[in-house]
Amino acid sequence: MNAPVSEAPVIASRPHLSAIGTTIFTVMSALANECGAINLSQGFPDFQAEPALFDAAHRAMLAGRNQYPPMIGTAELRRAIADKVAALYATTVDADSEITVTAGATQAIFTAIAAFVGPGDEVIVFEPVYDSYAPAIETVGGRVVHAQLAVPDFRPDWPQVAALITPRTRMIIINSPHNPTGALLGADDLDALAALVHGTGIVVLSDEVYEHMVYDGARHLSVVAHPALAARSIVVSSFGKTYHITGWKIGYVMAPAALTRDFRKMHQFNVFTVNTPCQLAIADYMREARRHLELAAFYTEKRDFFRAQLADSRFELLPCRGSYFQLARYDAISDLPDDEFALWLTREAGVAAIPLSAFYGGERVEAARAARLVRFCFAKQETTLAAAGERLRRL
Ligand code: PMP
Ligand code: GLN
Repeated sequence: MNAPVSEAPVIASRPHLSAIGTTIFTVMSALANECGAINLSQGFPDFQAEPALFDAAHRAMLAGRNQYPPMIGTAELRRAIADKVAALYATTVDADSEITVTAGATQAIFTAIAAFVGPGDEVIVFEPVYDSYAPAIETVGGRVVHAQLAVPDFRPDWPQVAALITPRTRMIIINSPHNPTGALLGADDLDALAALVHGTGIVVLSDEVYEHMVYDGARHLSVVAHPALAARSIVVSSFGKTYHITGWKIGYVMAPAALTRDFRKMHQFNVFTVNTPCQLAIADYMREARRHLELAAFYTEKRDFFRAQLADSRFELLPCRGSYFQLARYDAISDLPDDEFALWLTREAGVAAIPLSAFYGGERVEAARAARLVRFCFAKQETTLAAAGERLRRL
């Protein structure tokens, strides 16, 4: 029998959840839709993936591959990932014991944090920082420790990081190519990180979702190819970025077998496993290496096209060495703080962007708002970028 409903029960939010709002990506995309603005805010392509990918998914469905795949991912996809890694980074990752397919990078990151970080553990992140890291750390009772990446090149200051390491440091999260700045870590950065964590129990979580988007002759330096780091790292990537299918939500994690075992303990009770036909489709599709190898040239063209659109504008463009994001300073246009400027830009100029301060926490948000930087996503058709350029040049 149902109990009579008298008044709504009082169910208090857990304290860290009270501090969490809706992600800036959801907020800005919703506002762009509401205003009919050109959406260069949330990072996703406005063009189609190749039909061959959809055909492969359809074939897998018709072939009856519609039930649970193995918890760790289909053998086909894990093998295809291992082969790609061997070809690109000249290193061997075992498809059975070191690769796990995930529901995109967000789940991979959350699961890795839940598997390795406990109450009171400290996790060092680099600010500006991708928005999902801190809430995940705080959800499992960890403490977020911020290192700073400084304008204009956003390179880590390793002596600063060294000073932040304590006996409680459990994890360091790196992200290269970097969202939102487009910065890349170099070989010297990876060596510096390896020297810092040497002899400690620190786990490195390396977010490499933009691994194929590096420009101007630079090479992506995956942590899997750095033996000292690979031995203690969880590497995350996402097919959403690579194959223009952010809505498929499929990614993967690579880690040494011992770390993978712990990762999977958490993964099995988090999502258990991931969409079978889409895994099979990607496995089939990625066998043709040009499909990821051509991405750098493909996005170089888009980056250059977008930068050319803004060349005669009053925006000042920061360097973009990787990812599909372009930072722009607007202090010649407005003295509004960046969050207010992003709202104004969407409503009044008809172009949505992300304020850089959304990637900062605590008392540092104010300084970030005053830095007057916004992030544009150039993973768009030329017609979209040209239309946005026309509006942005008027400001
Ligand atoms: N990490 C970074 C740096 C990202 O930019 C994104 C999303 N664009 C993710 C993780 C999440 O990827 P996914 O959509 O596969 O969850
Ligand atoms: N990673 C994408 C971005 O930075 C958005 C992903 C999301 O909406 N969670 O724009």
